[in-house]
Amino acid sequence: MASEEFIYSLAYLLIAVCVVVPPTEFRSAGLTVQNLLSTWLGSEDVYFIHYHIKRTTATVVVHSLLPIGYYIGLSFVAPDLNLQTPWEANSLWQLYLLASTIYLICASALAVYWKSHKWSCHRIARTLSYHGTSWRAVAAAIDIEFRRIDKFTSGPSGARVIITDSWIMKVSAYNVNVAHQQDCHLNILKSEDHSISHESSTGAQFLTIEVISVNGNIKPFTIRLNSSEYRDLKDKVQAPVVNARNVVITQSLTDRFLDAFREQVAHNPRYHLPEGSVEPDPCIGCMQITSNVKLQKFCEDASQGECVQCYCRPMWCMECMCKWFANRQDQRQPETWMSGKSPCPTCRSKFCVLDVCRLA
Ligand SMILES: [Zn+2]
Ligand SMILES: [Zn+2]
Ligand SMILES: [Zn+2]
Repeated sequence: MASEEFIYSLAYLLIAVCVVVPPTEFRSAGLTVQNLLSTWLGSEDVYFIHYHIKRTTATVVVHSLLPIGYYIGLSFVAPDLNLQTPWEANSLWQLYLLASTIYLICASALAVYWKSHKWSCHRIARTLSYHGTSWRAVAAAIDIEFRRIDKFTSGPSGARVIITDSWIMKVSAYNVNVAHQQDCHLNILKSEDHSISHESSTGAQFLTIEVISVNGNIKPFTIRLNSSEYRDLKDKVQAPVVNARNVVITQSLTDRFLDAFREQVAHNPRYHLPEGSVEPDPCIGCMQITSNVKLQKFCEDASQGECVQCYCRPMWCMECMCKWFANRQDQRQPETWMSGKSPCPTCRSKFCVLDVCRLA
């Protein structure tokens, strides 16, 4: 009998852990609180804040069912404990039943209380109310920014970092931390090196960054991300990023190459747009930045070498041109990239790093 109880307890513990911190396999199979309740929760993309207010409420209730669920299950697995007739059970089990019932009642009462006040007393709503006169107006502003495609997101859905044009947010099981970009600064706390992470086979570095707001009602919170995403984060954050502890951030190979590429291009001759020509269009690679490079054969005399003069008008930004170039190099030998050649993305004329000219 004892072994059955033990196996049941172990299995229940395992399931409980998977409910509380769903592993990747559970998430991809859709076995998470948010997936099972998706119709009630609504759309995260349209009503981000309401979605998370409801999701955290549901999480509080679902998690509060776990202790009493264990008791009910055990009462069937081990009838000799008399759990189905608690007045005859061991006093320790009576205490357990009492505690788990109180926990369930409190969690449900809290959920009912939040819902009956139209969520205004929920933790997330209270956080938002510190950012404006009405939390609903702040929520609407966040929803609008969340719908934009250019937001920065990182991490799995249960522990996600989201940075929009004016907000830094961290989604966790019971809460969403929200800080207004204008009010805060970021502080790099530490880095952890993992030789192999479970999401990639190559080594990874994770950074822990603290978000500190001058708004006294907003408690500082930490966000964690892969250092390969650090550049994207910095592009999105207007708030200052302080690295007071001099944490060494390992950049991805492409990022390191981009630095070298940028430095070489800075030494190359500039290209002057012909008189009367129209302003260059946005880069066709990223559609974000105005095209700012032109390929001009400068590496050797016009008739010599492998490179060919390209006659395309400026259509790319330097970063996209660099990524295009890097993708066409031997990925196993990054040390040869600087001396490599690549076809022009549009006309296929060969060029090298010496031929990339910034627009003057
Ligand atoms: Zn671009
Ligand atoms: Zn070309
Ligand atoms: Zn060349």
